Amino acid sequence: MSTTEFPTISNDLLTSVAGGSQLSSGMTRARELGLRITSTTGGKHAAHSYHYQGRAFDAAGSPSAMRQFYREMAGSHPTELFYDPMGGIKHGRNIGAIGGHGTHVHLAY
Ligand SMILES: [Zn+2]
Repeated sequence: MSTTEFPTISNDLLTSVAGGSQLSSGMTRARELGLRITSTTGGKHAAHSYHYQGRAFDAAGSPSAMRQFYREMAGSHPTELFYDPMGGIKHGRNIGAIGGHGTHVHLAY
């Protein structure tokens, strides 16, 4: 059945490279949880940040909503997911808290 599995894998890869639809559904979910989108391509970020490529956003709100958002997004294969109280994920690996992300959740695809 590998012949039918390959197209599925390719589509998943394309989706995660393109980022757009996952990013917008992440924003929709953040707003549903009552979070504010505090930064997309604007603001001050690390050099080469995904923000400048339109592939990242920050969401801020109550700690419980940010925790919930982090938990949900952790299962969506993000390129980057940072929220210091919960930890950090980069390219699918748990890298722990990176610092500077105690008041917002950073999400990139
Ligand atoms: Zn950010």
